[in-house]
Amino acid sequence: MATYESLGVLPLINANGTMTALGGSKMPTQVLAAMEQASQHFVDMFELQRAVSEQIASLTRNEGALVVAGASAGLLVSSLAAMTGTDMRAVARLEEHGGDGLDHNEIIMHRAHRIPGDNVITLAGASIVEIGNVMETEMWELEGAITERTAALVYIAGSHLQEGALPLTDVTATLGPMGIPVIVDAAAQLPPRDNLWRYTEEGADMVLFSGGKELRGPQTSGLILGRRDWIDACAVHIGPLPRLARPAKVGKEEMVGLLTALEIWMEEDLDARLRRIEEVTAWWVDYFGDVPGVVVTREYPGESGRPLPRALLRWPAELGLSATKVSQLARTGDPGIDLAVAGPGSIWLSAEVLDPGEEALVATRIREILTSSDRPGPET
Ligand SMILES: *Cc1c(COP(=O)(O)O)cnc(C)c1O
Repeated sequence: MATYESLGVLPLINANGTMTALGGSKMPTQVLAAMEQASQHFVDMFELQRAVSEQIASLTRNEGALVVAGASAGLLVSSLAAMTGTDMRAVARLEEHGGDGLDHNEIIMHRAHRIPGDNVITLAGASIVEIGNVMETEMWELEGAITERTAALVYIAGSHLQEGALPLTDVTATLGPMGIPVIVDAAAQLPPRDNLWRYTEEGADMVLFSGGKELRGPQTSGLILGRRDWIDACAVHIGPLPRLARPAKVGKEEMVGLLTALEIWMEEDLDARLRRIEEVTAWWVDYFGDVPGVVVTREYPGESGRPLPRALLRWPAELGLSATKVSQLARTGDPGIDLAVAGPGSIWLSAEVLDPGEEALVATRIREILTSSDRPGPET
């Protein structure tokens, strides 16, 4: 059997978070069991998609839902949907001639919201029209960018990107009455649980979440939630149909797996988990408090502006140790530890996805690296 061991790929302790580059998250065994069962039978995929969509829509208090191959796939599919609606002639023009063949092919984004990976919008055939600057955006800039070619506005959610952008409710209040859909990329914006319906309540038409991050579903899954007419327009483009977003297709296993993961997550005691993350963070702050030269603090919010604490360790340049070096040394230990570099002389430690007991392994190893007498001298 091809296992990590037989492949010579060593598992890592994850003190970083639900990072795609580390495999996202770990699926609960019930999710795996549901996927295994799903894999053993043939079904009508349209029927399955309808049934799963209905359940997910109801669980997340949305009119409609669709499982796709990730939040990024969701951005592709929702961009296509925004350009064509359910008009099959527009779908055909888009397939033959790209976005240039369409009446609506411009997607507005705040300049403060440009993130790595947002170019799947361009892959869909739309051109991105930027408004504002990285620091601030004015309402007249949004109003000035709307033309008859406008297909949608893509809004990236998260408190870390809020400052330079208009509030979501101002955006939806402006575009809603014009019939221009607002797509919210909320891939990593869980918890809190009510984010599953909050953006839709604030007027968003299509909202994207990753299935393989906080929800602990298959890493190759994601959700489009929102208004039924726009979800219908999304469904026009994806597999099992041989259409443009066929690459965003998911299997029966992902559909059933993500639904099961969502059911589990809706019942999970998120407060208890948050308390545990707080406890570990406090323990790290205490533990590293007496390491010479190291300043350790609890930081909040966490990665992607999420409401989770993490520990920040900072040390002066005189220690002659770069954060990149610390990260490398942690990675190559046994077991290897993955952490986030915060700056030239600082790292973040997150307890978000640690198993009980791993916090101590992380602590001793990082302390060892920070205090080791044979650590490398100042780097040039
Ligand atoms: C993780 C992330 C994505 C990509 O999500 P996938 O489910 O891996 O496709 C897109 N946008 C944002 C803001 C993300 O954090």
